Amino acid sequence: MSQPRGPLSQLRRGHEELVLGLLRKHGPLSRGELGKRCGLSRTTLYDILAELVATGAVVTATSQEAPRGRGRPAETLTLNPDAGQAIGIDFARRALHVAAVNLAHEVVGSASEPHDAGLPWKERVELAVRLVGSLTGTRTGAGALRLGALDAIGVGVVGVVGSQHAGDEEAAPHPVQVLLRERFGVPVLLDNNTRLAALGESIWGAAAGGQDVLYLRLSHGVGGGLVVGGSLHRGAYGLSGEFGHITVEPGGARCDCGGTGCLETVASIRAVLDAFRAAGGRAADVAELVKAVRAGDRTALTLLDGVGARIGEVLAALCNAIGPSVIVIGGELAETGPALVEPIERALHDHVMPVSRHRVSLRRATLGEVAGALGGIALVLHESPLLSRYPAGPDLAEDPIPDKESR
Ligand SMILES: [Zn+2]
Repeated sequence: MSQPRGPLSQLRRGHEELVLGLLRKHGPLSRGELGKRCGLSRTTLYDILAELVATGAVVTATSQEAPRGRGRPAETLTLNPDAGQAIGIDFARRALHVAAVNLAHEVVGSASEPHDAGLPWKERVELAVRLVGSLTGTRTGAGALRLGALDAIGVGVVGVVGSQHAGDEEAAPHPVQVLLRERFGVPVLLDNNTRLAALGESIWGAAAGGQDVLYLRLSHGVGGGLVVGGSLHRGAYGLSGEFGHITVEPGGARCDCGGTGCLETVASIRAVLDAFRAAGGRAADVAELVKAVRAGDRTALTLLDGVGARIGEVLAALCNAIGPSVIVIGGELAETGPALVEPIERALHDHVMPVSRHRVSLRRATLGEVAGALGGIALVLHESPLLSRYPAGPDLAEDPIPDKESR
């Protein structure tokens, strides 16, 4: 599973990718057909195939269409649909989400589980291992997901994820990278989880195909991500998309970031629930708030009207700065539906430059809570054009792996 990364193993990895790519594109092929298409020497190809079969990435089948009576029927090679290639894990503040894709890049499973906000990293990683295990162990049908062909894990975490090359000193790897690498033995790519959700929504979700996308997540934190000119935007220090820390109330409530009056102090789950209760409403969580909204609770509707207006003003300012064609609203608070989205839309309409009013499409997110985990997978596969100018591999705060071959 683990790939040391000296030049020879990189070459070998390149050959494996070539063969896997051909099988992904053409479906089952015989050794002869593969040989013609890949241009590798017979020895090299057979060597690579033996390895891919041994790890479970590729399976052999005897072709049923081979003419009988003319020697052995041709053996074909095909991608193992149960072999996982990439895992995405979103370590959100109070929940963990995992998703996996197979070698054909089909999503083969996802799972989520809530946890306390203060859960230590070690226990979060244990939970992640267990959730990944649920993908590998409980699938019905042909078989469970196998991790023998696992390439890498894409991980989203809350907060700032900067490049290790941005600072003067070499940054220490994130604890989650160290722990996951110990458990799975593959590289662990790390980015901000909300930006990964933006990536997921822009590839597979509400903004699929969008070249200029603004994603806003209203959850325990408020954050977002930007696709600008067809590229996921990261910013010089990995700080792009921190929309939750734009000031909306100068001198307002203290924010976790150290500032005051940030959008997050008004539009996070805690802020909204606290304000609802302070106004006499009763709701222990978002589900109960949604229930109140659906029942037409005036207190809830008035509150969300005000919160939506604040969000819409911020979005209007961002629109004027960036000029997106699509705005996607995600996160648990979006579950309150039109009670929140309509005032957002009104304020956006009122405050954006008039010329932009009818050029921005406001949409609800569609990937749900696994958007960030799917974004992690996109990061690993690095196939989306949205990532063509995005740092990859070691430049993306990847954990430094001791490379035995270069020492
Ligand atoms: Zn803040």
